[in-house]
Amino acid sequence: EVSNCNLFVQVPLRMGRMCYSSSVPTTKLFIDGKFVESKSSEWLDIHNPATNEVISRVPKATHEEMLAAADSCSRAYHIWSETSILTRQQIFLRYQQLIKDNIKELAKLITLEQGKTLADAEGDVFRGLQVAEHACSITSLMLGETLPSITKDMDTYTFRLPIGVCAGIAPFNFPAMIPLWMFPMGMVCGNTYLLKPSERVPGCTMLLAKLIQDAGAPDGTLNIIHGQHAAVNFICDHPAIKAISFVGSNQAGEYIYERGSKNGKRVQSNMGAKNHGVVMPDANKENTLNQLVGAAFGAAGQRCMALSTAILVGEARNWLPELVERAKSLRVNAGDQPGADVGPLISPLAKDRVTSLIQSGVDEGATVLLDGRNVKVKGYENGNFVGPTVISNVTPDMKCYKEEIFGPVLVVLEADSLDEAISLVNKNQYGNGTAIFTTNGATARKYTHEVDVGQIGVNVPIPVPLPMFSFTGSRNSFRGDTNFYGKQGIQFYTQIKTVTSQWKAEDATLKSPAVTMPT
Ligand code: NAD
Repeated sequence: EVSNCNLFVQVPLRMGRMCYSSSVPTTKLFIDGKFVESKSSEWLDIHNPATNEVISRVPKATHEEMLAAADSCSRAYHIWSETSILTRQQIFLRYQQLIKDNIKELAKLITLEQGKTLADAEGDVFRGLQVAEHACSITSLMLGETLPSITKDMDTYTFRLPIGVCAGIAPFNFPAMIPLWMFPMGMVCGNTYLLKPSERVPGCTMLLAKLIQDAGAPDGTLNIIHGQHAAVNFICDHPAIKAISFVGSNQAGEYIYERGSKNGKRVQSNMGAKNHGVVMPDANKENTLNQLVGAAFGAAGQRCMALSTAILVGEARNWLPELVERAKSLRVNAGDQPGADVGPLISPLAKDRVTSLIQSGVDEGATVLLDGRNVKVKGYENGNFVGPTVISNVTPDMKCYKEEIFGPVLVVLEADSLDEAISLVNKNQYGNGTAIFTTNGATARKYTHEVDVGQIGVNVPIPVPLPMFSFTGSRNSFRGDTNFYGKQGIQFYTQIKTVTSQWKAEDATLKSPAVTMPT
């Protein structure tokens, strides 16, 4: 029953049981088509967040290993960029099927390393799979433009072409979806790709790499390095890397945007969030409360699109007790346990951060209506669990409102009018996602037009756009000017060449040099 052992990462065949009997398994590097053991002397432990047991180790790749990965990308680029677009399309057609075939295995790896429930982990893979599926439309997406007869016998047309070696730096919270936002779009455009997954959850990415190899991607088209700051700096500085896609915290994202841009690279940087759910008194109450609770506490609040702030408008403030009751009904448990709704946080450090932000609310005068800080999960006493927490009487000057909590904590504000709610949303530093719950079309329209936020849901709590659109973000949630996937993703990973050609008939040949600017 031992599969994939020694190949790229030691895949646990059942939750919690690794295929290794002795020492802690190691995560490989993926260089030039081979899963190789790092020679690094620096390694990081990966823990199961439900137990805090060490389940594997990940290397901080050495400089030589990172250079080998970048060189492999550079070499492969010359062949891959000239590989026919139909061949690239065929590889991604096979790839999306392989992801579907392995969705359960990928989800298990996510739950083991990241902690989210198995059902939610499948959703993580599924939303990434959709991007891989979208990549299969590349023959339409990469079409250029033509304008015939701009003057006599002259036509202009554009080619959309790859840009070179591209790189991705991923966060821990979506181990499948976010890497899949990155390398499939980059590679299908004809670029080669250097990926650095989150050092906290590399396992799923390694299986995704194995699958793209199985789908037929040539050696060197995808390379994977592991590590932290040194790996990030390497990506920001290496001259062969033309573009960087980053998703993660503001601290890292602003740094990478600045350092990468200074080095002349394209950088798209998706960062933190504080997403508001505005509840109008005319909303469908049952639907709204269920959606709000699901979006606040699902994935233990560790989603950049979690609805972490509710603004109850007018009479909707009376719904608070029912909201708390629903939050209370969620079951906190290890992600692989049947019926689990809320899994653990990624680390003890994350748990400390979340609990101290809850305490800051108490200290600043807010009311904790539901307190998940002392939750005990039978059999998982060492896990990083925080139960659903609801804090009311929150005001915009409080720390628990200003900072991204990234845990199962819903902060609740009240507003007397839609205008007041819009003003609150627009004054917050982040502009990642938001949702309004209403049955009034005019209210919804006003909201969608006046809030300065990238993703807006109308009666949709987590409006992550499908890949034919783009995932955007405003203010401190995004740096760069071209977004992830959709048309903007294609733009990010390509450059335009414009050809102007003239084919004159013999008798129209110029008789003397044309020294004036052509008009
Ligand atoms: P993180 O910034 O800690 O890590 C992301 C990546 O950056 C990792 O690969 C990590 O190795 C690297 N990194 C971490 N600190 C760094 C530093 N100081 N300098 C350089 N590199 C560094 O983020 P995370 O904790 O893994 O992810 C959670 C964050 O990601 C949250 O803020 C969440 O809102 C955000 N996020 C945003 C989106 C979005 O699309 N806007 C999506 C998912 C997650």
